[in-house]
Amino acid sequence: MAPAAVRIPDPRHTPVPFDGRPLGPQIFIHEGARQTLERRLELAFGSPVQLAVTDNLRRMVSHTRVRGTMRVRVHMMFLGAPERVRQALVEYIVRGDRRASGLLGDFIAANSHRIRASRPVTGPLRTRGAYHDLAEVLASVNAQYFGGAVGDVLVTWGRRTRPLGAKARQTIKLGSYSATERLIRVHPGLDRDWVPRYFLSYIVFHELLHHVIPAVPGSLHPPELLQREREFRHYERAIAWEQKNIARLLRAK
Ligand SMILES: [Zn+2]
Repeated sequence: MAPAAVRIPDPRHTPVPFDGRPLGPQIFIHEGARQTLERRLELAFGSPVQLAVTDNLRRMVSHTRVRGTMRVRVHMMFLGAPERVRQALVEYIVRGDRRASGLLGDFIAANSHRIRASRPVTGPLRTRGAYHDLAEVLASVNAQYFGGAVGDVLVTWGRRTRPLGAKARQTIKLGSYSATERLIRVHPGLDRDWVPRYFLSYIVFHELLHHVIPAVPGSLHPPELLQREREFRHYERAIAWEQKNIARLLRAK
């Protein structure tokens, strides 16, 4: 069977950069939902299925048969889709059903805010700092923890918020993630030679988790996110470093 794809409509805004690599490995999120969908596809196909979940913007659904195994890739938005959409997804993949294809197209259009920035980024992005290059940090975190599958998140050093000579701050937001811009901002106070690279990686990793695990009502940090955060290799070390250096960070210009 030839690979098939449902394509998203043309971006309404500035297209987000796309690295053009072939579909990367899956993002390990919502593992229970992934397995359920995989089993459902196996039943429908009557043959083994490998289901990968991707964050790929260009190809929302694709499948190909490799030596008797059906390899299916779907965008992560489908895992949380309503039942009728998941049913349509199965019908579309297994039979190329036209009506199902239309329903999927509608669902993708209605959820396009989840697959691309709904608000263009304002202002230039600055990834290369005096000491740390955030583009490098993002690329290595993406490769190490997401199999390179997160292809369309941007990163920048934030703007300096504290005037020179002002008193030390009370709080500091080390990182933030804007879902509408798909943009991670890292506090410029972290661009220092005394800030270890693993700490920046930890901040970027945490913000990427916000990208792959949406907030639920009442919780910006759902249990799944907190659990995943502990997969960071230097988690304990990063937390300890932050505690040890908080005063210094609060004074950072
Ligand atoms: Zn957070």
